[in-house]
Amino acid sequence: MLHLVRRSLLMQLLSVYLLFVCVVLVGGVAVNNVVEQQLRNDVQASDQALAQEIALETNLQIRDAESSLVALGKQVAQVQSEQQIADTFQTYKLSRPDVDHVYWLDPVGVLRVTWPLNSAALDTEFSPPDVVQRARMSTSPVFEVGIAVETTFNAGVIIAQPMRTSDGRLLGIVAASISLVELSEPLVSVVNAQQQQGRHLMISVIDGHGVLVATPQRARILQTVLDELPGANQALHNQVASRLGRGQDGQDWLFSAVPISDAGWAVVVQRPSQEALAVVAQFHLWLLAVILLFAMGGLLFWLILLGRVIRPLHMLAHQHQALPSSKLTIPVDTTILATRGDEVGALARSLIRLELDGLDKLGELRTLLETSNAVVGSLEPHAVVRKIIREARRLVDVQAAAVLLPDEAGVLRVLVSDGHSEHYDQELALTPEHSGSAPVIALRDGAPVQKLLSSGTASFSYEDGFRSVLAIPIISRHAGGVVLLVHRTEPHLFNQNEIDLLLTFANYATLAWEHAVLYERSDERLHEVARENERLYQHAAEEKHKLAAIMESMHDGLVLTGVDGVILYANQSASTLVGLSSAALEHRPISTLYAAMGNIAVDFQQTTAVLAQIEIAAIHEAIVTILSYDQHSAIHLRLFDVNDELGESLGRGLLLRDVTREHEMNEFKTTLLAAVGHEVRTPLAAIKGYASTLLQEDVSWSMLDQRHFLQMISSEADRLTQLVKNLLDLSRQEAGLLQLSQAPTRIQELIVTVLEQQRIQHPTVSMQMQFSSSLPAVNIDSSRIEVVLHNLVANAAVYGEGTMTIQAECQGDYVVVSVSNSGQGIAPDELPHVFERFYRARYGRQQRLGGTGLGLAICKAFVEAHGCKIWAESSERITTIAFSLPIAVTVNPTAETLVVDISPEEWRRV
Ligand code: ATP
Ligand code: MG
Repeated sequence: MLHLVRRSLLMQLLSVYLLFVCVVLVGGVAVNNVVEQQLRNDVQASDQALAQEIALETNLQIRDAESSLVALGKQVAQVQSEQQIADTFQTYKLSRPDVDHVYWLDPVGVLRVTWPLNSAALDTEFSPPDVVQRARMSTSPVFEVGIAVETTFNAGVIIAQPMRTSDGRLLGIVAASISLVELSEPLVSVVNAQQQQGRHLMISVIDGHGVLVATPQRARILQTVLDELPGANQALHNQVASRLGRGQDGQDWLFSAVPISDAGWAVVVQRPSQEALAVVAQFHLWLLAVILLFAMGGLLFWLILLGRVIRPLHMLAHQHQALPSSKLTIPVDTTILATRGDEVGALARSLIRLELDGLDKLGELRTLLETSNAVVGSLEPHAVVRKIIREARRLVDVQAAAVLLPDEAGVLRVLVSDGHSEHYDQELALTPEHSGSAPVIALRDGAPVQKLLSSGTASFSYEDGFRSVLAIPIISRHAGGVVLLVHRTEPHLFNQNEIDLLLTFANYATLAWEHAVLYERSDERLHEVARENERLYQHAAEEKHKLAAIMESMHDGLVLTGVDGVILYANQSASTLVGLSSAALEHRPISTLYAAMGNIAVDFQQTTAVLAQIEIAAIHEAIVTILSYDQHSAIHLRLFDVNDELGESLGRGLLLRDVTREHEMNEFKTTLLAAVGHEVRTPLAAIKGYASTLLQEDVSWSMLDQRHFLQMISSEADRLTQLVKNLLDLSRQEAGLLQLSQAPTRIQELIVTVLEQQRIQHPTVSMQMQFSSSLPAVNIDSSRIEVVLHNLVANAAVYGEGTMTIQAECQGDYVVVSVSNSGQGIAPDELPHVFERFYRARYGRQQRLGGTGLGLAICKAFVEAHGCKIWAESSERITTIAFSLPIAVTVNPTAETLVVDISPEEWRRV
């Protein structure tokens, strides 16, 4: 039985359920008993309380009657005549309706007075005589239950009080009969009140002999009912008792009896037990209903549990028990559930088994995957085959493995082997005629073949000590078939699991083999293609580099943008022009470049407006002027579209060309034309004028005048020549063709010569010279430097205020010549520009019309041609133009330099 319970979940649950039901039943019975007893006690206590109350009431009534009788006796003892006694009795009777009769007996017990009056009984002995006898002996009232026959047949309690003189002599006995009917009245009202509430109740007051003294059933008064009232006897012995007993009517009654101790009586309250214990019966009914409800609910729960849980569980457990068992044994303590013998235990064991099987399979699969990955990891056929062999040996327990490859004649030979002898590797040759050979059959049938090798079969494998062989074909449609052979030294066959494992592995191996062979075949072709690709790539890369180099080396800036306006490429020139690196430009919107150009523009507003037009491609060409290295640069912007062969837009290109020089050249040309026009016209007009004057026939000129005119013509012709010469020199210098014929020259002499010439032209100007006496000779082209000096002195004379000083001093390897003059000078902002061609400062223009602005430009060109520098300094008072010249002979630098302040004439004299 215990075994059955252990094996069946159904039995376990049923047992638990039954056990529970038992516990509930026992508990129910216990509760029933306790509650029933409690209820009974409550009912009995209530009945006893009622009986107690009645007993108390009765006791009080009797005591009251006794005390009133004592008082009556005292009154009677004081009166003399019987008539007076009768009157007293009458009064007494009126005050005590419960008193039936009042008697006066003489000392021997003869009735002398009675009230109400009963003449027949007077002078007769009082009955019952027993009361009289006891009263004569007593000093206190005695009482008796019975019927005073001599007077009335009403049953009553007769109370007799002896009346004695002070010396104890008995005067007589005063007695009263209290009606039992009256005594029963309160009981009647209690019983009736109960009956009105539908309850049955009976109350009996009995005296010490068991005689019924008071009862609602008046007919039964004075009947002896001790036997009918269980418990009454105990009450008469002063004990409270409750009893169940059979009543006169044959029903069961609950009797509750209490004593009336003073009178020696007892009160018995009785009610039908069925009615008294109705609460108990009702409780039983409820308890039964609860138990029934509980039982039905439990049954329903049980049925649902059975149908929805236990049966399916049972079925599942039964089915899982039918699953094939794994080769792995289940550890007993794997789980607590698995140790159970029931369906849950069976299910748990099955699940564990399944899990272990799953893990087992997963392990196999993982190994298979690893081996397969290892195999397909190479593309060299021999390496693949070596891996196939190694992984096959890892998968199954074999001592040797080999891969056989059929040659052109279809003879199977060892391609690679492991664990075999050298003899086996070299000599094995299995033709299709070896029809009993496992590899031949396997390759032919395309299915695995295994054999046990016995001594009868002459095979190389047997000679190598192997006793079982398994041949797995690896057949590829494109690469041909090979056979995987595995050998064991033990003569036992491979199980299905091992064969399946190797077959699955063979599928991967087939793939790897096929890939490797195909790869080898296509390897050469691939190499060719790769080489060609490499060559093309190299070519393309070179072209790209060339293109990049070309674009980088372009003097012009080039910026390429995509269709979205983002800069894809900006060459070095573009970066330099706008002052941003290529990295800062590339992959940014083209607006970055335009903003950068705007920032360095000479005229910000105008340039920004032009650039905005270009940005939206409203215009495709523009020239903007920017500040580059403190110089104005004119940049020509040209926007062009970049399209592919089909005309689809790829983006835009922006070409930035520095056209400053062209710009300047244009300006130069314009200015040159204007200047030349002006400069040539003036001397030509003079020449024409003098010539026309000379040719006038109507006027005869003196020789002096003629000579003067001819000199003027010659002078203007010289001026023209000088202008042409200057222009030629400048253009030569521009073209880099200016040639110097340098020779050591004393600069002092050159200066004196120039000053002498200028003095003639500007006789009002005071000219001073300051030279050191040991001024070294300079290595110069004197004709060019003379032009320089000539221009500077001419400027000082024209733009100065009448005085000029020419200094020459040695500074290091150079002699620095400076020409200073007083005067308004050159404004600081114009100083850098005075050496530019055709540039004329504001003050210069005011001072002198007709200048070309070429003088200083020529000076600069000639001085720089000597590898020296020329510069200008100007304040509000003094303007100095100075230049350096290379020293021809090294002089002693320690020699004292003598500075002389001397005029040209004095110099000549010196
Ligand atoms: P030209 O070609 O006939 O010499 P130019 O004298 O105007 O014409 P530059 O000699 O090149 O041209 O001088 C350029 C300008 O420099 C002058 O126009 C003049 O304004 C200013 N300048 C040159 N030398 C002086 C000077 N000594 N004092 C004040 N201004 C000078
Ligand atoms: Mg000049």
